[in-house]
Amino acid sequence: MELCQALTIERVSTSAERREQLKAVYAEARGCTRCPELARTRTQVVFGAGHADADLMFVGEAPGAREDEQGIPFVGAAGKLLDQLLGEVGLARSDVFINNVLNCRPPGNRDPLPAEIDNCQDYLLRRIELIRPRVVCSLGNFATKLLRADPTGISRLHGQAEIRVIGNRALRLYPLFHPAAALYTRSLLDTLRADFARIPELLALALPEQPEQREPAVPEPEIVREAEPAPELPGSPPDRQLGLF
Ligand code: URA
Repeated sequence: MELCQALTIERVSTSAERREQLKAVYAEARGCTRCPELARTRTQVVFGAGHADADLMFVGEAPGAREDEQGIPFVGAAGKLLDQLLGEVGLARSDVFINNVLNCRPPGNRDPLPAEIDNCQDYLLRRIELIRPRVVCSLGNFATKLLRADPTGISRLHGQAEIRVIGNRALRLYPLFHPAAALYTRSLLDTLRADFARIPELLALALPEQPEQREPAVPEPEIVREAEPAPELPGSPPDRQLGLF
């Protein structure tokens, strides 16, 4: 599927409606079997967590063992570093939305396979379309290569923001080193911290002009009204007023 393929969502406009749509996409993802091996070996789908209307989104690689256990992205050592770096720029996890290229843990933490990335990418695009972040930080090579649709690696691109149309949204894509890499290499940590320090200035920039809306490429999926209410996303803080999951 083309990265900039318009998906489904544009008709929906209020943040409350988009939040409900996001929950419907989550309900769909929870039963996903597009990657038979991942569906068989995962404990649960790790869809993403944070603010449903966040200006800032982080896209990592794939859940690890801790994330697979808890159903929340970035809860291990790399996540602690991410929390710390967020704090240093005056942000908390609840201000942002954190998710991954893959929703499921690859067994043994192996690299995501191209077919898995392909299978999972429309979930990521739909999250971007529904959350509408102004800035998306791609963490490491997998997210950066996918979101730029280009094989250039993170060492060449980190810290350089560019306007990109992803899904049906124009946004600032800001590639960063993956926090897991910075855990073990002091110089990468210094670079990651310096790149992070520019996030507030990127968030303060005007929203890029949005592409003209096209007709949805695929029919609008019906929101399935389940007998049970749509599930809350993991990590849901109780304050629904804030639009948090
Ligand atoms: N690394 C990632 O890329 N994602 C996670 O959720 C955790 C670690």
